[in-house]
Amino acid sequence: DDKDAATIQILMSDTGGGHRASANALRDAFNVLHETDPARFPLPIRCDIVDIYTDYGPWPYNMYVPAYKIMAEYSFLWKWFYETGATPLGLWLYDLVLELICFGPFKECMARDPANVDGRGGRRADMVVSVHPLCQDLPLKILTSLDTGGASRKEGRETPFVTVVTDLGGAHPSWFNRGVDRCFVPSDVLRNAALARNVEASKIVQYGLPIRRGFWRFGSDSDIPGGAIVERTKARAEMDRSAIRERLGLSDLPTVLIVGGGDGMGGIVSQARAVGERLQKLASSSSSSSSYQMVVVCGNNKSAQTALSPPQMKWGGDIDVRVQGFVNNMDDFMRASDILVTKAGPGTIAEASICGLPCILSSFLPGQEEGNVPYVVDNGFGCYQGSPEGIADTVEEWFASTRAEGSILERMRHNALIAARPDATLDIAKDLADMLYARREELKKREKAPAVVAVAA
Ligand code: UDP
Repeated sequence: DDKDAATIQILMSDTGGGHRASANALRDAFNVLHETDPARFPLPIRCDIVDIYTDYGPWPYNMYVPAYKIMAEYSFLWKWFYETGATPLGLWLYDLVLELICFGPFKECMARDPANVDGRGGRRADMVVSVHPLCQDLPLKILTSLDTGGASRKEGRETPFVTVVTDLGGAHPSWFNRGVDRCFVPSDVLRNAALARNVEASKIVQYGLPIRRGFWRFGSDSDIPGGAIVERTKARAEMDRSAIRERLGLSDLPTVLIVGGGDGMGGIVSQARAVGERLQKLASSSSSSSSYQMVVVCGNNKSAQTALSPPQMKWGGDIDVRVQGFVNNMDDFMRASDILVTKAGPGTIAEASICGLPCILSSFLPGQEEGNVPYVVDNGFGCYQGSPEGIADTVEEWFASTRAEGSILERMRHNALIAARPDATLDIAKDLADMLYARREELKKREKAPAVVAVAA
């Protein structure tokens, strides 16, 4: 049945790990829907996920990904780029120059057959989805041009175009274009941002952030409404935690998890040193009979991993420490932990919330990650602490309160689960599938229509 598969082209760029992660999550969700409920989702959906800037952009547009890495490290550069690009003049200028340089090459990308991306001809995707802030304005014009055979860039588009916003508590204005058919947002703040950019309320849908399969909720759980699910998830999390620790080869101890996004950014080495030393002190103090555990996930940051592992680093024997490179089972590591220390990445925050994991936010990228701090604080499942010492203080305070009635961690765990959106990925995928099937039906009807006319004539 694969030749009948409906197709979606997902436009993104690998600036940060989140856009591709969201695209992959949607692709997996389509597969799960088709496999588990073929009656409602009869057609398989094939995704053509493309980094349109790297693969099709002429210089300097094909340099976005390395440039982003540099700017993310020197955040004042990023702040300048982000803020200039968010002014009306900046937005207009960006779109103007982009159209001049990239209209042709991007059109080639959007005209490609998802089943035969290296060959020409064939059929274009039935629908286009953007999961990137810089893939709205020009792709919409190109799609219109493709649909009208080059007659117009403004009117006459028929192929559905959808934006799925992959930021959480703040987003660049370029995410929002009133010309899209639907705009999925994960939070109230971003719903308002979309409205402020004149996207019609009827086109805005709010479910949550699309994230990896390990964080979804399946089966009978999803039938339990409201508070009940929070209670049940909490109860199960307690039960699961020891088992997951065992599976990961970790000790069954109060655990702090330190991460810095896919690239291990945000100063994880100094944070790990400060937290490690503090836990060591707590464990070895004469009044304490407890021990602790720290897990550091360095992602792709090899030098951080080396700096935190022997022989460069020797941890004291009173606590257990595990230093990892990139892991593919972040859901397990989060479910095994009591406290998360992380930069304010949207994906990591949404994942932690689903796991009921209180967060200490250690840094944020100016611009799109800034709003993630109030998102966590206002939802009551974490705080911001910019210095390694401050982070260690907070860890100590939160662990100390576990012995008291109504502990901070317990309250935050509860709040995190209330804010969690574990069904978002499947919900977004269901809506997209419905749009896609409707489009397919329409096309089919049209294919048949000339025959009817001929018979009538
Ligand atoms: N991640 C992972 N393995 C690692 C480190 C990170 O799978 O070793 C994932 C993490 O679970 C999250 C994503 O990478 O889904 C990071 O996304 P986020 O939006 O937090 O930050 P970004 O890397 O995009 O700046």
